[in-house]
Amino acid sequence: MPVYCTVCQLKFEKETGFWWGTGYVSYALTVAVSMATFVAWYILIGMSVQDNRPFYWLAFNSLLLLVLLPYLMRLSRTLWLTFFVSYKPLG
Ligand SMILES: [Zn+2]
Repeated sequence: MPVYCTVCQLKFEKETGFWWGTGYVSYALTVAVSMATFVAWYILIGMSVQDNRPFYWLAFNSLLLLVLLPYLMRLSRTLWLTFFVSYKPLG
């Protein structure tokens, strides 16, 4: 990630440890994705304590989160930044 925006020269890391808060955003996104896959799994495949379907969901969800990691990382940084910096068109 660049230190400054290439368009408006905004310093992205506003203060030391600024990106620390992205952990909370990332956590919220991860929980949201997990809840979405759980509901989808429950409706499409079903859940039961009698078989291993909950564990298959767990494995599927873990893999999905791993695949989505680069995307979720960037998304959480973008969301975190929009909490503090609002968009203003140049010119
Ligand atoms: Zn900019």
